[in-house]
Amino acid sequence: MADAVESHADLYKIIGSDVSASKEELKKSYRKALLKCYPDKVEESEREAALNEYLKLEAAWKILGDDDTRRQYDAESNERHVQQSVAVNEEVEVEDMDFDDDVAYYPCRCGGSYILQELDIKNDVIVPCDICSLHIKLIVPDHWNAPEASTEDVAPI
Ligand SMILES: [Zn+2]
Repeated sequence: MADAVESHADLYKIIGSDVSASKEELKKSYRKALLKCYPDKVEESEREAALNEYLKLEAAWKILGDDDTRRQYDAESNERHVQQSVAVNEEVEVEDMDFDDDVAYYPCRCGGSYILQELDIKNDVIVPCDICSLHIKLIVPDHWNAPEASTEDVAPI
């Protein structure tokens, strides 16, 4: 039954294999894993756990053992993976940021701000919003120089 598998569980891990395995390799890993949870291979006290394992294995194999459902599963995991790693919602040119002293700001659509120390400004830097979970990626051209206004009054003490 499919619901024996947690929705986001890594089915390859359950089988003891990985996403790059060929169908044959996958089958071998599956059989090997299956042997480990045969009721007559485990202690009485571990039978329930073994049965659970067995059900998970069956469910995982049902998806990975078939080319079509495996492909679909791979595509969905890829998507999940991309969403989990930092999602860049927007690319922002450094020229479009507002500068206040040594800090650069860019407004987030949630009402918060992306805030970056001028020192940290470099190409491809990922900046989180200070309120929500959105991120921007900064685009900084090679020839870019920070606005000079901020340093005008700085005198040595
Ligand atoms: Zn935000």
